[in-house]
Amino acid sequence: MRSTRRARADGRRLAAVLALASLALANLALPAAAQPIDQLQRDDEAVQSLGWRLSHGNAAFCARAAPGIGLLLADAQTFDDPARARQAYGLSGDIAVAAVAADGPAARAGLAANATVGAIEGAPVKSLMPPPRNDSWARVLGLQQRIERALAQSGVVSLTLADDRVIAVRGAPACAVRFIVDDGKGNAAASRDQVRIGRETLRKLGDDPAMIAAVLAHELAHAALDHESLITGVRNRRAVTQRCEREADRLSVWILANAGFDPAAAAAMNERLAAGTLALIASSTHGSTRARLARIRAEIAQMAAAPDHDWAKHFRREDTAPAEPAR
Ligand SMILES: [Zn+2]
Repeated sequence: MRSTRRARADGRRLAAVLALASLALANLALPAAAQPIDQLQRDDEAVQSLGWRLSHGNAAFCARAAPGIGLLLADAQTFDDPARARQAYGLSGDIAVAAVAADGPAARAGLAANATVGAIEGAPVKSLMPPPRNDSWARVLGLQQRIERALAQSGVVSLTLADDRVIAVRGAPACAVRFIVDDGKGNAAASRDQVRIGRETLRKLGDDPAMIAAVLAHELAHAALDHESLITGVRNRRAVTQRCEREADRLSVWILANAGFDPAAAAAMNERLAAGTLALIASSTHGSTRARLARIRAEIAQMAAAPDHDWAKHFRREDTAPAEPAR
């Protein structure tokens, strides 16, 4: 069974924010190609799991933290052929669990991919959000927000499954950032509350968890430092963007360490860039690979001097970018 899931339409918000690279990759020009459904789910699960580990491991330091459960919803209506998608996934309704983070609260409560979700907090999903019309992702995003709201209010959310089982999941602290995989252009990007990574990028990273974690940590750093606000409306955008990229490279080291990853993964990713095996990053905004490597190594040394790895306390932000001389 093959099916095609439409690209996330909420890329409009993300378009304005920081991209790991803004390259239009030639091999993204695949035909509106059918993807094996199991690969879509494996990608979702990998990114939910790594994203959860990063955001849970850094919850104590993120200015915006909230209880999370490590769960991503799916909506069959985001597929070109919803009926086929329901059949392939074995769903009895449109709304289902797309993926749960390994070892996250949802997984530990017994939720698994392809469980049809009938109600959230006792309210039928049909009553909460109308089926999508123009923006096919609006409903699933709205329902995801319902879950987040319930968790923020009481720390617990209850989901009613198709077989009428009610599963109450208690949230655990996490940075309030959603992680999504999409088929959109660009490799990875972050807004204040969302990190996205392109499916092609996962392939380019060889589906290597340490490499994917390094990219997600860089993007989570953009979100955690609220670079979206910093860059919105500035005149000298290039200088501010470069500053943001330097900060994200440096903070990614702390974020990886707090999630139990070897922070050297950030350096390894850049070494692969240098070796030309990974064409991911626009050097115009991210700086030369050599400079990035040096910065990352220096930051690893800085972090070693702060054994609590409390980046809220010890991470040095850069000052406002100096004005670039006119050319
Ligand atoms: Zn970046």
